[in-house]
Amino acid sequence: MLTELKREAYEANLALPAHGLVHLNFGNASAIDRRRGIVAIKPSGVGYDRMRPADMVLIDLDGAIVEGRLRPSSDTPTHLELYRRFAHACGVVHTHSVHATSFAQAGLPIPVLGTTHSDFFNGSVPVTRELTRAEIRGSYELETGRVIVEAFAKLDPEEIPGVLVVRHGPFAWGHSVAGAVENAVALELCARLASETLSLRPGRKGFPAELLKRHFSRKHGKAPTTGRSDRAATAKQRISLLCIVCIVALIILTSSALEMPGGYWPSYAVAALVALIPAAIGQRYLRVSGVLALIVLAYLIGADYQAGRDHDRLVKEMLKRAHQQLEMAKPNQSSESMLSPVNIPSGR
Ligand SMILES: [Zn+2]
Repeated sequence: MLTELKREAYEANLALPAHGLVHLNFGNASAIDRRRGIVAIKPSGVGYDRMRPADMVLIDLDGAIVEGRLRPSSDTPTHLELYRRFAHACGVVHTHSVHATSFAQAGLPIPVLGTTHSDFFNGSVPVTRELTRAEIRGSYELETGRVIVEAFAKLDPEEIPGVLVVRHGPFAWGHSVAGAVENAVALELCARLASETLSLRPGRKGFPAELLKRHFSRKHGKAPTTGRSDRAATAKQRISLLCIVCIVALIILTSSALEMPGGYWPSYAVAALVALIPAAIGQRYLRVSGVLALIVLAYLIGADYQAGRDHDRLVKEMLKRAHQQLEMAKPNQSSESMLSPVNIPSGR
C-alpha cells in the first residue's frame, strides 16, 4: 500500500545522514498523502544502514497505524501536529544538525544576515518558547508540535519553512518531503553562516528588508519583482490611487450643499462602487484606504438616512400640530388662515 509514499519517505530519511544532518539516530523524515490523509514515517529504533522502504510505517492523522510491523518514530505526534496545522506541508523533517541545534540550545532565533538565508526563509527562523513542566510530563511530543504551531501564530509557515525547538533542535517542512529535506539542509547552512558571521562581527544585524524581499520573491515567485508583472502591479497601484482620489472628491461633493437629482443616493452608490476597486485590487495601504473609504461612506449614508428620518418625523409632528390647531379653530376661522404661519422645514 502507498509504495511510492513509503519510497519517498525512505529516500528522505537516507538523505539526512548523507547531508551530514543526522548523527547516530537523531533524526527522522515523514511524507503525507494529503488525499488519503496517510503519513509514511521512519520506524523507531532502526538504523539507517538497515532500513528498507517497506519498513516505513503508515499512520493516519490521529496516529493510528494503518500498515507496518514496526513502531513509528517517537517524534510522530510532533509530525502529525504539523501536518494537521500547516495545510501546505507534505513533508516534515527533524534533525539534530550541529549549528541549528546550537542556536536551539542557546534559545536564539537564526537572524537574517545574508542572501543565502533570504533565498529560503522570509525572516528570522523562530525559536519556540520553553515547554512547561506539565507539557514535558504530559504528551511531550504532541506539546512540542503545539509550541511550534504557537511560534507561527503571527508567521507564515510557508514563507518560513523551519523552526528551532528550544533546547532540542530544528524541524523543517516543505511542499514535498524532498523539499523538507532541502529546507533542513538550508536551515543548517544558514545557522552555520550566522554563527560564523556573529563570531566575526558580534551584534551584526539590520539586514535590508528590500534585499530580503527581492531574494525570497526571486526564488519563490510569490511577488515577482521584474518584467510584465511588475508593470501590472504599478498599473494596479495607479488605478487604485485614481480611485481613492475619486472617492475623496465624491465624498466632498456629497457633503457639500450640492443637491443631485434623486438626493445623495446616486453619488453614494457611485462612490461605493469606485471604493470597491482599490479595496479589491490595491496593494496593502491602498487596500486599507479603499476599506476606510467604504467605512466613511457607510457612516455618511447612515448619517444621511438618520437625518432624513429626523426630518420626516419633524414634518409629521408639525403637520399634526397644524391639524390640531385647525381642528380647534374650525368654528371661527378658515383652515388656510391657520396653516399659513406654520413653518415646515424644507428637505436637505
Ligand atoms: Zn530530536
